[in-house]
Amino acid sequence: MSQLENILQHNREFVENKAYDPYKANRYPLKKLLVVTCMDTRLVELLPRALNLKNGDAKVLKTAGALICQPYGSIMRSVLVAVTKLEAQEIMVVGHHDCGMVGLTAETVLEELTERGITDADLTRLSEAGVDVGTWLCGCKDVETGVMESVKMIQNHPLLPKDVLVHGLVIHPETGELTLLHDGRK
Ligand SMILES: [Zn+2]
Repeated sequence: MSQLENILQHNREFVENKAYDPYKANRYPLKKLLVVTCMDTRLVELLPRALNLKNGDAKVLKTAGALICQPYGSIMRSVLVAVTKLEAQEIMVVGHHDCGMVGLTAETVLEELTERGITDADLTRLSEAGVDVGTWLCGCKDVETGVMESVKMIQNHPLLPKDVLVHGLVIHPETGELTLLHDGRK
């Protein structure tokens, strides 16, 4: 069931055959671009093709729903590293239609976790430690709201340099068509 053996086998051949050659790039994004998008499986290849991104063109951060919930969490930290040490000057938050995070409630996630062995005592311990799991596990109302909340989180962040552009877009997960929600130049 695990993909580990298949992947390790493929990887040995990949390296032996020097199949990595077409992907050579350095760590600074050629297009000075950072894309924050969803982890959806349909976007793995579609998004870079639809945006004309090749290896080396952009930094890509993936998080469920392209949602950035915490101003001082690891996604926001990565955004700040990308715009300082890695020279990104423009950020695109790209949500997508038919996203699993739209309408996701903490209850449904917790229900499944409980079935898989997480106990009430575990949840009580978290709540005593000050973790509001109910809010933390929530998705967004709709894709547009989710994207715009992430755009605002980045744009209004006290540590974001003022010269960085932050755009908001939605991609169609089948056709790759982009809809512009927010043009950071305006
Ligand atoms: Zn999604």
